Amino acid sequence: MLAAILSLGGIGLIAAIILGLAAKKFAVEVDPRELALLDALPGANCGACGYPGCSGFARALAEGRADPADCTPGGKETVAEIARILGVAATSPEPRIAVVLCQGDRNRAADKYRYLGIEDCNAAQKLAEGPKQCPGGCLGLGSCRRVCPFGAIEITPAGLAVISRELCTGCTKCVAVCPREVIRMTPAAAEVHVLCNSHDKGAVVRKYCSIGCIACHICHKAAPQAYVIEDFLARVDYAQGAAAAAAVDKCPTKCIRDFARGYPEGCTFGGGACAAPSDVAA
Ligand code: SF4
Ligand code: SF4
Repeated sequence: MLAAILSLGGIGLIAAIILGLAAKKFAVEVDPRELALLDALPGANCGACGYPGCSGFARALAEGRADPADCTPGGKETVAEIARILGVAATSPEPRIAVVLCQGDRNRAADKYRYLGIEDCNAAQKLAEGPKQCPGGCLGLGSCRRVCPFGAIEITPAGLAVISRELCTGCTKCVAVCPREVIRMTPAAAEVHVLCNSHDKGAVVRKYCSIGCIACHICHKAAPQAYVIEDFLARVDYAQGAAAAAAVDKCPTKCIRDFARGYPEGCTFGGGACAAPSDVAA
């Protein structure tokens, strides 16, 4: 019995010595800056930087392969802290947030068939290019909401994705997942947007959506410098953003929204202070 205990103890001791030596020989040196950088990052592992997670980005930063400004969710403070740790000058990119360019919920935009499949926009899009008649409208099945690491997206009861301007960090995950390319990155300071994503002619848009852009040029006439009409769709020139507000009340279909006046109807962001298009009108 004693011999067995001694021999087992001996084997254990030898194994411990071998493991100890191996750990020393094969130890990977970690740059202390990498740990400090990881500490400074938001820890959201959202991938906005182009790396699989914050640890990959921290390593790339420490090895001089990444730009501190690529952590858009971290904001100016994080970028400044990264730059301080690396001893480089901080660049502060213009903050950008995502906006869903559509207001065509179930009450305003017509379907071409009733979709009864799994609740996933990409699955629905594969079935005859989606149940909505509008080829660019939000399908409202929430694929974007499910990937947002910051809880910045909600789907209204009438089936429209809406993004919180307060919670969005600009990570772009929702943009990548949306099959309709209806989510766009925009300057965070821009509050006026044409919430439509259809390039169909006005007469066609009128048939399937009551709140779509009909390319009537009225916005362009009201604020020529702020609106561009391309391929039957108006868009705000964000460089001239301040002037865009002048056209909001003039738009006959109310597809231009000034978020300073409220979010699309049915969402709870902004304390539920959501303006219906009729409220937005003059
Ligand atoms: S709304 Fe989109 S861009 Fe904004 S934080 Fe969520 S996934 Fe990222
Ligand atoms: S914005 Fe795109 S991903 Fe999100 S609910 Fe609408 S169609 Fe789906």
